[in-house]
Amino acid sequence: MQINPIQNKSILTRTTGYLKSVCSHSLNPYRGCGFGNSSCGQGCYVRSNTWITRGREWGSFVDVKINDLYSKTVDREKSWAHRQSMPFSIFMSSSTDPWQPAEKNYRITRKALQAMRITPPDEIILQTHSSTILEDIDLIDELCRSCKLRVHISIEGDRDRLPGLPPPPCSVASRIRALEQLSSRGIFTVICLSPLHPLKDADLFFRRLKSAGASAVIIDHFILGDGSSDGSRTQKTSLPAIMKNVMPESIHLSYRDKVIDIARNYLPTGVSAAGFAGNYS
Ligand code: SF4
Repeated sequence: MQINPIQNKSILTRTTGYLKSVCSHSLNPYRGCGFGNSSCGQGCYVRSNTWITRGREWGSFVDVKINDLYSKTVDREKSWAHRQSMPFSIFMSSSTDPWQPAEKNYRITRKALQAMRITPPDEIILQTHSSTILEDIDLIDELCRSCKLRVHISIEGDRDRLPGLPPPPCSVASRIRALEQLSSRGIFTVICLSPLHPLKDADLFFRRLKSAGASAVIIDHFILGDGSSDGSRTQKTSLPAIMKNVMPESIHLSYRDKVIDIARNYLPTGVSAAGFAGNYS
């Protein structure tokens, strides 16, 4: 893994595309992802983004945005959002994981959260695949008091491994324990099945998430969810064939709809971009 400290001009990016319906800005403390060679990295929506990869293999690099950029640009970006009559809302992160291994050394995510204590956004969504988020639970708890905050924990399904995929960044059990600890503090926690994997026992899984304190779930299939209209980005990866081997029906959108119906028996459920924007029913 190549780790490259970089001096970036900005860490707050005004959103475009589907993210525009979710928040005004994204904040990516890193470019690239240290989890790129784990299970989520195989079908990761970002791996085909050439502006980010710049010709490099996904999972082989992490660029670390080492300068303190939040404090430098927050006033300008907050005013810009308010001029557009929208809340200054941040998605952290849209193209990397804020609590990936490099965070242990560089603490770029922690520094951004600390800076937000001084100038908070109106809203923030923190999204991760890792229970390492708990290292910042006090900071997150504190931020809840100054802005609208929710934590998205990505858990694509109830199996730790799909045959043919590498191990996950963090076990399902560890992520559910993180959910328990966050929700026990009253933090709004959303479990993201994105992209949805074939489930062993959907009822049992959603019951488990509910009893661990999840506030809501988001179900997002690679079809309609990967930034292409027909899932063609993901079709170029090994993920669909691996899912099909485990459960042939799981590669069709009708599987997503079936799982949504089950999830709604247990928890408020959001679907794809509307779910990421905080709409559940
Ligand atoms: S943690 Fe997120 S950004 Fe990183 S490889 Fe997995 S899906 Fe992609």
